[in-house]
Amino acid sequence: MLKGIATAPGIGIGPVYLLELKSGEEETGNSQLLYGPEEIQAELTRLEEALGRAKRDLEELADKTRRDISEAEAGIFKAHILMLTDPTFIAGVKEKIQVEKKNAARAVEEVAEAIAGSFAALDDDLFRERAADIRDVAGRLVAKLTTRMRPAREVPPGAIIVAGELTPSQTAGFSRDTVAGIATETGGTTCHTAIVARALGIPAVLGVRGLLDQARAGDTAIIDGSSGAVYLNPGSELLEEYKKKKVTLEAGRLNIKCTGPARTRDGRQIELVANIRKAAEVKIALEHGAEGVGLFRTEFLFMNREEPPGEEEQFQAYQEVVAAFQGQPVVVRTLDVGGDKPLPYLNQGHDENPFLGLRGLRLCLTRQEIFKTQLKALLRAALYGNLRIMFPMVTALEEIREAKKIMAEARLELEASGLAVSRVETGMMIEVPAAALMADILAREVDFFSIGTNDLAQYTLAVDRGNERVTGMYDACHPAVLKLIDVTVKAAHRYGKWVGLCGELGSEIQAAPLLVGLGLDEISMSPVFIPPMKEAINKIAYHEARKLVRRLLELPGPQEVRAALSEFT
Ligand code: PEP
Ligand code: MG
Repeated sequence: MLKGIATAPGIGIGPVYLLELKSGEEETGNSQLLYGPEEIQAELTRLEEALGRAKRDLEELADKTRRDISEAEAGIFKAHILMLTDPTFIAGVKEKIQVEKKNAARAVEEVAEAIAGSFAALDDDLFRERAADIRDVAGRLVAKLTTRMRPAREVPPGAIIVAGELTPSQTAGFSRDTVAGIATETGGTTCHTAIVARALGIPAVLGVRGLLDQARAGDTAIIDGSSGAVYLNPGSELLEEYKKKKVTLEAGRLNIKCTGPARTRDGRQIELVANIRKAAEVKIALEHGAEGVGLFRTEFLFMNREEPPGEEEQFQAYQEVVAAFQGQPVVVRTLDVGGDKPLPYLNQGHDENPFLGLRGLRLCLTRQEIFKTQLKALLRAALYGNLRIMFPMVTALEEIREAKKIMAEARLELEASGLAVSRVETGMMIEVPAAALMADILAREVDFFSIGTNDLAQYTLAVDRGNERVTGMYDACHPAVLKLIDVTVKAAHRYGKWVGLCGELGSEIQAAPLLVGLGLDEISMSPVFIPPMKEAINKIAYHEARKLVRRLLELPGPQEVRAALSEFT
């Protein structure tokens, strides 16, 4: 049994399908030259990623060696890390990519060989050993660079996907009908890969250390997305037990009634709405009793293609969702790329820290043609129902003003072509601590807020939401995060604005008393969580939840908050 992070609930049973081809299994294309600035940029990004992954491996090896053997032996790997981060070596590789247009694997091999060769030629054992070290490090890096992914369409039905790393767009290519479960070595609870797996209803366990070493193609695997356990080649007893659990779990989920609104025992109604990524998910949202959409992540319309969708294509997609909800609100978030959702064709250059770089609204403000096209499509779709527009990753007042200015221009351009659109409710996400702390100023600019706890927790706690190495420190129930939510809700209400929450905290049924007591007006989540969340809210008294939250805000850490929450019910 291997242990990872319980990411998407449910039980998956099936044969292991290794998504990555190891080097040697496929032609690496080493002699291939790169064409054009986009390919060069993509190759530089691949190099950075491979350097990061190789360094992480070496750090783990050093730790393990220190524990199992000795500090002195661990020093070998520390020296390897130094080589991997050596500025001259990296600059040499980059130059080969940029100037000679060689691919990254070839560039690494050539630079490493030049250095190793000159050491090996010296008549000194120490230098000769160093040459061997250089070749070893380069080999590790080349292996990372020549690992290729099999295309999602080749996955046989009923398989358990096993991979080192999965991107959100790769995950989006899977479906519940064909994939029984997902297990990866990297990732955390609220990275976008996790969110997509949950949205698709595919059981997933991420951050499973040692997975690739242990799993073999064709092994029978059990993925327990609720406990974070991954069993490889389980015994027949365990297999039977899990098969029964799976049947019971699925039957139970279907049985929960989902009619009527979510209303606390003392009469406070809270709107429960769905997080979706595309029109195809509307059906599942309606089946689970969604009263609208609280977060339409439009960036998924922009992924897995070579150029952004045009105004007409976007209009069709938005209009379809808005019309299906027949007057119920549909909050559409404008393009939120960057961070762990890169869009290579935007050619935006490289960020050392993508989550702190050009992402979300920041990126849209630098690419106004793409932004305005989306806004026009949204304004046109607003004529077909109750569409609301929401901006992601807002940090400063000027950003929201600038976004509204571009929206006004889009509206004028539509009017000039004879299309008058009435006022559309406009809101912003609160997912940066600065925005939460400035909520009283920002509230005057918008009609609503929606709190994105995934990013808010990441930025408040300085913990990368997708990094399994620090996942133990990531918890949206941390009192520091709760205080920011509390400040935000109070500020919004002071100005008569409604406030929702659309991060993954909204899918945590155990957090229901907290969500109610914070005074949220709306909670948006993956559709499958709507019925159990409704059931939980209907059992809570709002005035008691208020008192509970006042107490939670004074607690020292997330463990205490979670303990108090489980005592409350
Ligand atoms: C969030 O950050 O909580 C959020 C809902 O946005 P995303 O997960 O898409 O970054
Ligand atoms: Mg976010």
